Amino acid sequence: MPNPHYRSTSYRKIHTKLPSGESKIHYERRKNNRAVCAICKKPLQGVKTNSLYKYSKTKKRPERIYGGHICHKCLETLIKQTLRGSS
Ligand SMILES: [Zn+2]
Repeated sequence: MPNPHYRSTSYRKIHTKLPSGESKIHYERRKNNRAVCAICKKPLQGVKTNSLYKYSKTKKRPERIYGGHICHKCLETLIKQTLRGSS
């Protein structure tokens, strides 16, 4: 039985064969999916998804309203619609 933290689904198993001929299971963290826009589903620019512990919050996503959730094009159209009074 593996260690309790390796039983999580965020780890993937890698079956390896050692030089001695013995087969072992290595555990590797799964990578996160790419961040996508909540409206048009295009991949977001400037959003980090892996090894997040290394970076500060301001370096993980753009520093604007809805940064890291919707793309700049969708934000532009939303702002225009609200200013023109048509939602
Ligand atoms: Zn979008």
